Amino acid sequence: MSAITNHMPTAELQALDAAHHMHPFTNGDELNAKGARVITRAKGVTLTDSEGNQILDAMAGLWCVNIGYGREELAEVAARQMRELPYYNTFFQTTHVPAIALANKLAELAPGDLNHVFFAGSGSEANDTNIRMVRTYWAMKGKPTKSVIISRKNAYHGSSVGSGSLGGMTYMHAQGGMPIPDIHHINQPHWYAEGGDMTPEEFGLARARELEEAILELGEDRVAAFIAEPVQGAGGVIIPPETYWPEIQRICDKYEILLIADEVICGFGRTGTWFGSITMGLRPDIMTIAKGLSSGYQPIGGSIVSDEVAAVIGSGEFNHGYTYSGHPVAAAVALENLRILEEERVVDHVRDVAAPHLKAKWEALSDHPLVGEARIIGLMGSLALTPHKDSRAKFASDAGTVGLICRERCFANNLVMRHVGDRMIISPPLVITPEEIDTLIARATKALDECHAELKERDLL
Ligand code: PMP
Repeated sequence: MSAITNHMPTAELQALDAAHHMHPFTNGDELNAKGARVITRAKGVTLTDSEGNQILDAMAGLWCVNIGYGREELAEVAARQMRELPYYNTFFQTTHVPAIALANKLAELAPGDLNHVFFAGSGSEANDTNIRMVRTYWAMKGKPTKSVIISRKNAYHGSSVGSGSLGGMTYMHAQGGMPIPDIHHINQPHWYAEGGDMTPEEFGLARARELEEAILELGEDRVAAFIAEPVQGAGGVIIPPETYWPEIQRICDKYEILLIADEVICGFGRTGTWFGSITMGLRPDIMTIAKGLSSGYQPIGGSIVSDEVAAVIGSGEFNHGYTYSGHPVAAAVALENLRILEEERVVDHVRDVAAPHLKAKWEALSDHPLVGEARIIGLMGSLALTPHKDSRAKFASDAGTVGLICRERCFANNLVMRHVGDRMIISPPLVITPEEIDTLIARATKALDECHAELKERDLL
């Protein structure tokens, strides 16, 4: 077979893709009938596809390319590390400099006494580590019955059997024998969709108190940990009411339940501070990290663990690890990514420049006839589409029909926005400039207008 390259016609690449490549979270027949979009290169916040379109990536890939595409420094570091030590493991009483350096840097950046890192290859793997680590922690402390992990409906924690069980996506649980035992899901703090007549503040408290109810129902001696994203991402960028997190922290403290903050999306600047836990005022015992850790340039994740949890786990043998835990090339690239984030003051740019500029314009989209709510925190935002703004009503069509139409209109206008049901979400690279934000807003507005017209035309409003 001749080499497959960027220079081939799109249709040929699509046919080859359809022949042998299975896509994640995709209906294969539907995709192959249509042909996948082929992305060929990227720079800054802009993707180029095989047709030459220049697309503004308002999702930073999958919420991960925090420093933007095309940073030569990361390629240099990867090449240098591959030449020096492309691989070695951290099992069997060995270590190497990239893992040492990255763990030390993360201990410096992470809040409180989160000073110890267990590396993984992805967010899913890191959350699998967390399941085993919190249960082992309690067993080592002589409380082996404490094995239940409480999570939330509509949470996303990964796609492996363990992390997918932690997650609260019922359509995932429906396939492949999930959830595993001893995972319990409580309701999410999604005021817009589920708050009814309560104020957001009342609702936030009510939803947080479900954690206490669950602990009392299950028995304190059964519950190991509570896991949550500081701001739910894949569930639809759901920013909890202000009353929610303080109450959750109070309950975790009262019942000595370990708090796991899944920072896979919120970590490394997304919410305008280094971690979502800082933005939300949390004191987690464990943080899950991935994505922005390397800005997606290499697959790497991990768990940053408190002094107390690390001391207990370290007192025995923890029978867990991955071939690529602390992979030297991935670790070196992550370290370089963190250097850039720090030296170029990217988190300050989010807080002081990009987020305030985007917030004003994003929230103004709530004036659009299709938008019931426009919310944003740092550089992650959502638009709730609705046929009736005041009542927060849903569309009569199946959930996601309108969101998909809007997403396609965005693509047609060279903008990547994602839809979750009938919510539109963004999470652009953190280095986005005010001018690029203006382009994002202009394209989003045009896509919303076109979507509105299409809905009228197709009698979907
Ligand atoms: N946790 C959260 C909050 C995520 O958003 C994701 C991925 N979207 C994961 C975990 C899983 O990470 P990965 O896809 O790297 O396994």
